[in-house]
Amino acid sequence: MNVDLTDKVMVVTGADSGIGADIVKLALESGAKVVAVDINPNLAASAHGRLGDLTRNARFVVGDVATEETHAQYAREAFESFGRLDVMVNNAGIGSTRRIHEAPPEEFDRLINVNLKSLYWSARFVVPFMKKHGGGLILNTASISSVAGIPLQGIYAATKGAVAQLTRQMAIEYAPDNIRVNAVCPGTVDTPLLRKAAAEAGDPDAFLKMLADMHPIGRIAGPEEIAAMFIFLSSDWATFMTGASVFVDGGFTAQ
Ligand code: NAD
Repeated sequence: MNVDLTDKVMVVTGADSGIGADIVKLALESGAKVVAVDINPNLAASAHGRLGDLTRNARFVVGDVATEETHAQYAREAFESFGRLDVMVNNAGIGSTRRIHEAPPEEFDRLINVNLKSLYWSARFVVPFMKKHGGGLILNTASISSVAGIPLQGIYAATKGAVAQLTRQMAIEYAPDNIRVNAVCPGTVDTPLLRKAAAEAGDPDAFLKMLADMHPIGRIAGPEEIAAMFIFLSSDWATFMTGASVFVDGGFTAQ
């Protein structure tokens, strides 16, 4: 089974690091054209460094997914550079390790804006275009925290629960428009986001061991093991899937 994304135009947010960086890499290797979006101003330079000539099919937009302007910019970039937008990957996200009542209101608002409201802003720009062009695919990064309470996940868990429910709702609303919407729910993945949470937790080694032990498979994932699912879902092998929350979690939610 070959996965061929030739001629597909994808937008990937949170593209500079972790899962998003690996989605961009695998998508380019599979023939897609990619608009990579991230708040990190070094986005283009770091992608050129990591991916070399593969970046000939990539464009870069530096911006905050919590703002409307970023979504306007990447939509414009996709249409001006590639003439279409087939797959929207809402992957950018931030964590919180504080207990709910100890998180300041600004942190609550920031997590909602980055992890959840960004999907709404994205829909405002992407859905009308997809409707006009006969359909499309939206993929959202949710989490095992979408369905399970896990120590030290705080407000993050509420945002990811909402991402999974918004995915289902959008799948139903837009199925008549041939727009499919799915979520990928990773278990714990070794990325800078996780390393930051581990540092904030006080004892990073104990934190990482606790998380690894919570996965029946006995370890946490590498980002490429999650990115691969996005590539499959973006391919023409997954055309009957919509409204799904696909768990790539080492057995976490099977317990
Ligand atoms: P990461 O920190 O390695 O990468 C996230 C990227 O998003 C970074 O490049 C960062 O600069 C970018 N970003 C952050 N805020 C942004 C904003 N406001 N606007 C634009 N870009 C922004 O993290 P990751 O672990 O690869 O996380 C990717 C997604 O996977 C997130 O939605 C996260 O919640 C989810 N997730 C991660 C894990 C895990 O264990 N790492 C588990 C489940 C779900």
